[in-house]
Amino acid sequence: MNRNDRMDGQKSDDVTGVDERDGRSESALAVSVDVEDWYHVPAVTGSSFSAYEDVDSFFEEWTDRYDYLTRPTRRTLDLFDELGITATFFVVADVVENYPGLVEEIADHGHEIECHGLHHACAIDPDTKEPRFTRAEYRERLVEAKRRLEAASGQSVTGFRAPNAYVAGWMLDVLEEVGFQYDSSVARNSLYDKSAGSLVGVDTTPYIPRAGSLATGGSDREFVELPWPYYERFGVRVPAGGGPLVRLFGRTVIERGIQQSLARGDTVFYFHPIDIARESFPKVGNTKRRPAYWLFKGETAERRIRAILDAFDDRLTTCGDLAAAHSPTVRRRDDRPVDSHAQYRSAENVDSRGELSR
Ligand SMILES: [Zn+2]
Repeated sequence: MNRNDRMDGQKSDDVTGVDERDGRSESALAVSVDVEDWYHVPAVTGSSFSAYEDVDSFFEEWTDRYDYLTRPTRRTLDLFDELGITATFFVVADVVENYPGLVEEIADHGHEIECHGLHHACAIDPDTKEPRFTRAEYRERLVEAKRRLEAASGQSVTGFRAPNAYVAGWMLDVLEEVGFQYDSSVARNSLYDKSAGSLVGVDTTPYIPRAGSLATGGSDREFVELPWPYYERFGVRVPAGGGPLVRLFGRTVIERGIQQSLARGDTVFYFHPIDIARESFPKVGNTKRRPAYWLFKGETAERRIRAILDAFDDRLTTCGDLAAAHSPTVRRRDDRPVDSHAQYRSAENVDSRGELSR
């Protein structure tokens, strides 16, 4: 059965995802994974309301085990191996030094390594949407993050996802300046707004943003935005990109949102390895802002994610290939140089359980 037949009230002939350049007849769903640990979330580090100003000050004071990431990341790799999925991993660059060998391991499984910030700090203030860094500082951090991830993965890193999805048009401009070719952070919906400025024309399909803006209608640039899906009902748009939303809203809303969004064109799905972590995380930080944040993680989340991936198994692709399909200049993974990265591989700091502590 054509999966479009199941879409809510939408006829198959409404599907607009035919992409001439790509030769695909159906729209595609890019699978992505945001690789960060429990202390990268804004309640703990990197925001105006976090318990520690940044990851550096967290590590200055934290003496207990910190690694709750390695185990669920390996679980994610196993899941993808089992389902035959190649995905895009947006990795916080400090993971390279604090989890030796992990980024190399993901790359060795054939996945795309892309950037999720240097330390996962919000680039704009969650409340005011004002920049938290100067443009020069932001540029410097991006260049450093890109350098570390490329060194570890041996891949050219050209994709970005904004930490906590707080995104602004000026950020995309800086990303383009330092060699990134696409971003995947914009989530138009009725429940929250993490973007600074206008989202005019934005829905759930890839587009070229205008300079200095998140709005559609860019023309003389070669930078693509891959926005997230939403589920629309009674005029309300519920975010359906995945991750915490899978945990909070359950599988059906996300699956229907993806179905609706695929009827408009290509879109993306994401989750975090820590969404499927079985262990409880240390209780640190201001949890009042998101009291239910870690509900339904672990096994429940994994079961839902698996079902969603399974439901769209004939549509899955990577963010890199999606970006390439929507820009004449973004190169496909197969066309990009891959260097040997054996020299960076080091497991000496990983203990016998594969976990790290300080
Ligand atoms: Zn993140």
